Amino acid sequence: MKILFLDQSGKPGGAELCLIDIAKPYRHHCLVGLFADGSFKSLLEQNEIPVEILTNREIQVRKESSLSQGLASLTQLLPLINKVATIAREYDLIYANTQKALVVGAIASFISRRPLVYHLHDILSPEHFSKTNRTIAVSLANRFAKLIIANSQASKQAFIEAGGKENIIEIAYNGFDSNLYQISNDEIKKLRQELGLENKFIIGHFSRLSPWKGQHILIEALAKCPENAVVILVGDALFGEQEYVKKLHLQVTNLGLGNRVKFLGFRNDIPQLMSACDLIAHTSTAAEPFGRVIVEGMLCGKPVIAAKAGGAMEIVENGVNGFLVVPNQPQELAIVINQCMQEIEKTQTLANKARESAIARFDVEVINQNIAGFLRNLLQV
Ligand code: UDP
Repeated sequence: MKILFLDQSGKPGGAELCLIDIAKPYRHHCLVGLFADGSFKSLLEQNEIPVEILTNREIQVRKESSLSQGLASLTQLLPLINKVATIAREYDLIYANTQKALVVGAIASFISRRPLVYHLHDILSPEHFSKTNRTIAVSLANRFAKLIIANSQASKQAFIEAGGKENIIEIAYNGFDSNLYQISNDEIKKLRQELGLENKFIIGHFSRLSPWKGQHILIEALAKCPENAVVILVGDALFGEQEYVKKLHLQVTNLGLGNRVKFLGFRNDIPQLMSACDLIAHTSTAAEPFGRVIVEGMLCGKPVIAAKAGGAMEIVENGVNGFLVVPNQPQELAIVINQCMQEIEKTQTLANKARESAIARFDVEVINQNIAGFLRNLLQV
C-alpha cells in the first residue's frame, strides 16, 4: 500500500508525533509531504521516513479565521494543490493528518482520483475553532473523505455535532512503544541531579506553552502546595504564543515561585524527564482531543492528574488509573497534588496499575494493525 501523508506543520506537536508512528511501517512505500520546514522534518528523517517540504509559502489561515480570510488563502493554495495532485498519482491514497492538509488533500484527491483519509486530531468545537474553520473542515471531510480516523470518541462526537458524517468514522487512539518509557534508576538519578532537584517533589507538565494547555493553572496550584513541591514546564510556544510565555514568567515572579518553577523548553527526552518526576499534571482548560502526555505519564509509571474533559476522560478513570480534576480549578488541583504528596505508597500502587493498563490499551503495534485494517477495507485489498 503506497501512502502520501500530508501534514501542515514544521514543528512536532502531538498529531505529528502520532504520524511518525503511523508512517513508520510504510516507510518503504510512502512520502510525508509537509507544508512547512522545521524540526519535524528532521524527526521523520531520523526515523527513515521519506519526507519532502512541498511549499515554502506560509499558509495564512489560522484557527480563528473568517470566511473571507479562508477563501483568500484557498487561492494561495492552488500551486500546492496541483503539486500534491501530481505526486498523489504515484500513491494509492492521500492521508491528511491536519486541517490544512485536509483542505489541500481534499481537492488534490478529487483531481488525482485517489481516495482521501482524514486523521482527525482535533475537537471541532467553538472552544477551539472559528465557525468558518469548522464549516470548511466538516464540509470538505463530508464531501471528499472516504474514511475519517478520529483520535478519540470525544473528537468523533464533536465532528458529528459540527455536522460531520457519522458513517465514515473509525476511532484509533494514539499508539506507543512502551519499551521507550522504561528508564533505569541510574538515568533518573542523573537527570534529577542535572536539574538540581534531587530532594524535591517534582510535578511535570509536558506540553507546548499555550493558554489552553493551562500551565498558569498549575503555577497557581503550586502556590498552595508545600515548599518542597516544584514544577518543571517542558515544552515551547510552538505556534507564536510568546505573550503567554511572558505572562507565565510574570505570574511565577508575582507568586514568589522563581526557585520552584523551571522552564525547560522543548525537549526530546520526554520518557526520561517524565520518569524523573513524582507526578504528571495535565491542565488543559478546553477539552483535550486525546492527550498523549497522559498516556506517556502512565507508561512511565507515574501518577497522572488530568483535566476532566474530552479524550482525557477516555484514558483516565478517577481514582483507578489516575486522577481527574475539573478544568480551570487550581484549588481542586492543589488538593489532589497535596493528597498525592501525602499518600505516596497508595498513589504509586495506582500508578503501577495505570502503567499495566496503558501498555495493554495503547500498544502501537495493535493500533497500527487496526489502522492498516481500516485502510485495506477502504482500498479493498
Ligand atoms: N512533547 C515533546 N517535547 C516537549 C513537550 C511535549 O516531545 O518539550 C510531546 C509530548 O511528549 C507529547 C506531545 O508532544 O507526545 C504532545 O501531545 P499531546 O497530545 O499531549 O498534545 P498536542 O500537542 O497534540 O496538543
